[in-house]
Order: sequence, then structure tokens, then C-alpha cells
Amino acid sequence: EPGFDVAKVRADFPILREVINGQPLVYLDNAATTQKPEAVIEAIANYYRHDNANVHRGVHTLSDRATRHFEDAREKVAGFLNSPSSRQIIWTRGTTEAINLVAYSWGMNNLKAGDRVLVSWLEHHSDIVPWQLVAERVGAEVVPIPVTADAEIDLDAFEALLDERVKLVAVNHVSNAMGTINPVAEICARAKAMGALTLVDGAQAVGHWDVDVQSLGCDFYCFSGHKLFAPTGIGALWGREELLESMPPFLGGGEMIETVSFAGTTFNTLPFKFEAGTPNIAGAVGLAAAIDYLSNIDRVAAAAHEDALLTATLEAALEIPGLRRIGAPKHSAGIFSFILDGCHPSDVGMLLDEQGIAVRTGHHCTQPLMAHFELPGTVRASFSMYNNRDDVDRLIAGLKKAQSLFGPR
Ligand code: PMP
Repeated sequence: EPGFDVAKVRADFPILREVINGQPLVYLDNAATTQKPEAVIEAIANYYRHDNANVHRGVHTLSDRATRHFEDAREKVAGFLNSPSSRQIIWTRGTTEAINLVAYSWGMNNLKAGDRVLVSWLEHHSDIVPWQLVAERVGAEVVPIPVTADAEIDLDAFEALLDERVKLVAVNHVSNAMGTINPVAEICARAKAMGALTLVDGAQAVGHWDVDVQSLGCDFYCFSGHKLFAPTGIGALWGREELLESMPPFLGGGEMIETVSFAGTTFNTLPFKFEAGTPNIAGAVGLAAAIDYLSNIDRVAAAAHEDALLTATLEAALEIPGLRRIGAPKHSAGIFSFILDGCHPSDVGMLLDEQGIAVRTGHHCTQPLMAHFELPGTVRASFSMYNNRDDVDRLIAGLKKAQSLFGPR
């Protein structure tokens, strides 16, 4: 793709030089987690080499440095999401914790018997189970939004479900199981028109493009750093400021308080109200380094490169007898989910691994979706910007081998 030099990007990711089972690694499990560029690895190491201290409380120089890095990282995430302010960026361990924060803090205090939370049939367990846990306690109901045979959210069915009982709609921006890019701006607008809040699970979106929470029109947005070329254990919740202001703390402890006494405790201001305990400072530093790294990459060209890889993969793979793509969303973000007749997904995965090719197999934490398609699971190849044509060729060759060993003649 013009504007995008895949060889140059690959050189930034040291793990891509690993040899697995005698073959150069082909890493196609990017939806599970992305690899980290040297710049991120170095930023974390340098933080521990030169700046490590606890944040927000020390009078000493290192504590100042650590705090500055940590708060600069928050600013960086605010910029990445186009948030009006960094007070609206709450550090979490990732998407899962961010959704739980909203479910417990907002949901437990605002949902009541008879209320409904709509989640799509495409959701990851982390955007289903927290709502179920809270709904069960308050007597609310979690209702799935149907999907089409192509694994797209059925917007007519969504419209039909939208009534005054619906208090929140939670959908993913991109489906981790099928790659579907959901029309979240439209979903948020429709939900808002009915007076419902919206939460967008952006775990699978941030790895492909920069997000603008203001133009999406959502109330909450969540993502995990590790799907954005940053370390595990760090992520963020973005929320509309007046909502976050109105919500009680989620976890209690140090950092999130203003004053503590046995007569009663008062809480810190945003964003600290939601950040109990010593945070993942090095993780935030790594996430900021990942955002910096990406600012030097033409992400539109990178996404076009990923699309081209997916298209090439689909063309070649669909020639393989007995191979069936699951879900065929019109707009897909670098994910190819499929089954091979006569062959268990985990056997395909193991055979590919023997050839140095990493894919994911199983239910992808989307058991309701798998049940909907009457499948125990799929094989999933997921692309990132550092994948190349050679990766596609190796995957196709690997699948042909699997087909010849297990597939129909
Ligand atoms: N939602 C989606 C769409 C995901 O792909 C994932 C990660 N597979 C999650 C949520 C959960 O993210 P994490 O495990 O990083 O909290």
C-alpha cells in the first residue's frame, strides 16, 4: 500500500524474528493480543531503569518523574480517543475491568427491576457477564440484540427492542470472533434517542484505527492496551464527564480518597476517584510509547494493508475444499473465522503451530455467538499491520496441508 512500508514496520517488532518449530514465526493471533515494538519494550525498561517510584504522593524527584510520566500517558490516551479532557480517562487493567467498573458503579446504582440492558449477540463474555451479575442483583434483564447470518448486528431487530425499559446498550466496536465492524455511531444515536446510555467495547478497534469518542456519540468507551501494541495489565475507560462525576467509586483504597475517617470518607476527584491502589505505572508508560509509535505510522494506509491481506486470504482460502468462512460481515477488521469440514478447530490450530503459524481456535470468549451458529468454535486468523503477503501464503499452505490430511477428498 502506498504510504505503508510493512518491511520497515516488521523490523520494529523483535518477536517477529522468532523461529517456531523450525519455521519463522507467522503471527496471526493479533485479536488475542498484539506484539510490542522495540520502542514500547525500551520505554518500559527505561522507566524501571531511571524513573521508578510510586506516583502522586512522594516529595522526591523520582516520584515526581514517575507521576509526570503516568499523567502524561493519561493525556496521550485522551488525545488518542479525542477526549475533551484527561479527567475522563480512568486507568483500568483492560477492557474487562472497565466494563465491570461501569456495570458495578453505574449499573448497580441506576438499574432497577424491570430495566433492560441490551448487548449484541456478538459480544465477548466480558461485555455480557458483568451485566448479568449486576442485573441479577437488581432484578434487571440482559437482552441480546440478534445478529444476521453474516454476523452483523440486525439493526431492525435492535430498533424493535428499543423501548423505555432499555437503560443501556453495550456493543463492541469490532467483533473479536468475526471481525464485524459495527455501526456504533448509528447504534449510539438510536439508543440516545430513546434515552438509553451506550457503552462501546473498543478492544478490537484500537489496534486498527484511532478512535474519536466524540464523533461516535457514546457514553462510555473501553479498550485494552495489549491490543494496541502496549503491555498487558493496562487499559482505559473513557466516560462522559457528568456521568463519571455522578457515579460512586468502584474499588476502595488508597489514592481514590480525599479524607478518610471512621466517621466517614470522602472521595478524590476524577479520574482518581476510580483508581484505588498503586496503578500499573510502567504499563501506562508502555501504552503512551505505543501511541507515540503509532503517531509515526500512517494508520489509514496500515488498515488498507490489513484489508488487502484479508481479501487475499479469503480469495485463496475459499478455494480449499471443505473450508467455510463463518460470518461474512461487509465491513471486517482483519479477522478470518472459519472451519474446515471433518477437522476439529484445535487440530487445525495444532497442525498450523507445527508449521510455525499462530492462530486462535475455540469459542473466542463468545459462547452465545458460537451457539447461535451451532458451532463449538472456529479457527481464527487475525491480522495486524505487521503481517505480510508471506504470512498469507504460509497460512494458505498450512491450511491446504490440514485439508489434505483431514479434509474431504
Ligand atoms: N472485548 C473484546 C471484543 C475482546 O476482543 C476482548 C479481548 N479478547 C475483550 C473484550 C477483553 O479484553 P481484556 O481481556 O483485555 O480485558
